[in-house]
This record gives sequence, C-alpha cells and structure tokens, in this order.
Amino acid sequence: MTGHRGPTVLAPPASIAVIGGGQLGRMFIQAAQRLGFDAGVLAETADAPAAQVASWSIVGRSTERVALQRLADRATAVTVEFENVSAPALRWLARRVPVRPGWRTVWVSQDRHREKTFLARHGLPIAPWCPVRSRAELAQAAAWASPIILKTASSGYDGKGQVRVDRPEDASAAWRSLREVPCVAEAVVEFAVEVSVVVVRGVDGSALTYPVAENRHSRHILDSTVMPADVGPIVAQEARDFALAIAQALETVGVLTVEFFLTPEGQLLVNEIAPRPHNSGHLTIEAAITGQFEQQVRALCGLPLGSANLSSPGAMVNLLGDLWADGEPRWDAAMAADPGLKIHLYGKQAAAPGRKMGHITVLDASPDRALDRALAGRCRLSPQHRPG
Ligand code: AMP
Repeated sequence: MTGHRGPTVLAPPASIAVIGGGQLGRMFIQAAQRLGFDAGVLAETADAPAAQVASWSIVGRSTERVALQRLADRATAVTVEFENVSAPALRWLARRVPVRPGWRTVWVSQDRHREKTFLARHGLPIAPWCPVRSRAELAQAAAWASPIILKTASSGYDGKGQVRVDRPEDASAAWRSLREVPCVAEAVVEFAVEVSVVVVRGVDGSALTYPVAENRHSRHILDSTVMPADVGPIVAQEARDFALAIAQALETVGVLTVEFFLTPEGQLLVNEIAPRPHNSGHLTIEAAITGQFEQQVRALCGLPLGSANLSSPGAMVNLLGDLWADGEPRWDAAMAADPGLKIHLYGKQAAAPGRKMGHITVLDASPDRALDRALAGRCRLSPQHRPG
C-alpha cells in the first residue's frame, strides 16, 4: 500500500490537521477555521503558536508513533508546516490518512544534497556546489572555489547551519563549527536580487503560481518582501515556469515555495525549495484574492484552488525578537501613524534575537510605497523611536 487516498474532496466541518506548531501552522489553522474546518495540530508544546488557536491539539513529536496514531484517529487529512519531519513517519501516517504534500516531496526538500541532485536531474539551474561528507571532500571543496558557503545538508533554517568560508585555510574550522555533519559547499553567488515563487498544486494536478516576490535578507534571515517583484516580464515568467516544473516533477499536492538568486546578467538560479507556505508569501493573506494558507487548505482537502491574482501590490516586513530588546513595541504609535498597517503576531512568549515574532503587511499602489510604509511602521514600533 503506497498511501491512503481517502475521499477526493473533504468538505467543512471535516477535521484536518497540521504537523508543527509554529507560525506557519498557526496561519494554516486560521485559514482552515475561516473555511469552517475543524482544524488541529500536532505540536511539541501545548502553548505553541498553532496550538494556541487550534480547535484541538496533540502534544508530541512527529517521530512518536503514539502521537501519530492519535493524529490518524482524529484527522481526515494531514499537512506539514516544516520540512524537517521524518519521512518514514510521514510514510507510516500516509498509510492511514491522506498526507499532503507526500513524504517524497518532504524527503527531497529536507536534505540539500538530495534537493540539488533532484534539481540538476530535472535540468533546473542551480549555483555550483559540491558535497562535503568527509575531510577529503572538504579539501576538494576548499580547493574548488573561494569564497564558498558551507551549509549543513539538513536541519538548517534562517541562516542557522551555514558558514561563509573566505579562505581555503579556514575550511576545516568552519566545518568543525558545523560539527562535521554532512554538508554542501556552494560557490558564493554575487546575485542582483533574491526572489521567490509560491506555487500551489491541487489533487487533480492543476497548478498555479503567485506573482514573483522580491526578498531582502538581513543576517541570512528574511527581512522584507515586496510583490510583485521588479524583475521584468521575461524573468518573472521564467521563475513561475521553473516553480511549476518543480511542483509537477515532485507531483506535490499543496503549497511549495522556490527561492531563487537572480544574477546581474538576468540568470535565475534555484537556491532552495520549501514544501510549504513561505515567509515571502505571508503578504498574500491580504494582497492576493486567495492567501497561501487558504490554498494549502484547499489543496489538502481536494477543493478547487483559489485565484492567486493580486488585488493590490504589497510589502511585508518581519518583526524579529530584537524589536523587544528595549521593552514592548509601541503598537499604538505605529497604528496611529498609519491606519493601513496589518500587524500579525504569532503568540510567542520569549522574544529572542532573530526569532520571528510577527510581521507587518501594507498594501499600496506600488510595491515600493508599500515597503516604505511597512518599514516606517516597524521603525515606529521601536520604543527608541522619536517621532520627527
Ligand atoms: P538559505 O538558507 O540557503 O536560503 O540561505 C539563506 C540566505 O543566505 C539566502 O537567502 C542568501 O541571502 C544567503 N545565501 C545562501 N546561499 C548563498 C550563496 N550560495 N551565495 C550568496 N548568498 C547566499
């Protein structure tokens, strides 16, 4: 038996669930509840962001059979909010209840080595890379290009698990700092801009993409996104076509995000795949006819996909824990100065530096104006901010 097929269409108020209790799970649950579903979560703690809003929660790890069995007993379909779910556990679950995306999509995208091999096999452009699984391979990587970025093959996110190596003689120390786990070494790409495409594919194989998002990172963490990206129609179409090709090749069902580097010469290189809604798609909640989390619900339930057209250009800025360093952000000041700010908070208790606590979305006639307002709104949140 390869997988549980279940009824083709799940209608509200069916019980559906997400594995993972973070902000992506929380926004999935909020979208599911708006459509009338009984939405639950498998989370590691009872007060996780998604568990706070879920209609029901199972507290446990995605590797625990007891927790998975309880999930299979309660939910009629299951999705994931992050890629680091054990693929064998997903396969086990998929024999009992439909799991979308399937274990193969998750398995490919949870390991950079597998992901790059998959992309290359399907003719998709990627940055030059080589595997680092031994001292010999590390020496080869250090001799092959400089500078390079060493990235752990699995479990990295928001810049965690990666080190830039500027001189070949620093390679050993860099790998040691990553505990000498299997890695990939990538050439540093001197990109002009980073973009991403959120693609959604339904049970029937129909697929659609959102307009291209343009992303800025700070300390390897996404800082802001605007949509649509200012990349011209040819690059935009190519990025959307690559994203569709990846979703089709993986036969994924659900939402999948492809991150790209765009070189100054106009060449797109796939950086990575996330088999789920993405931080760069958060602004689709307000800026698109159908937000990315509602699409995740629709795809999971075998429902027709919604329009991914934008109702307005928009911008999103992340609110990291650093903003809390000098006390509670000035929500009132930011809201008073711009009544068009849409503030999302994820319900996280501890505001650690670099931790994603929430985001702001702004819609405006142009992406640049939306970004200026979103950035100004974030500035006003700082207790240090002096109006002037
Ligand atoms: P990743 O976790 O691979 O998405 O990396 C996080 C961020 O680090 C990217 O969004 C880029 O800003 C930067 N980065 C990662 N890999 C490279 C690379 N090969 N060349 C240049 N910048 C990179």
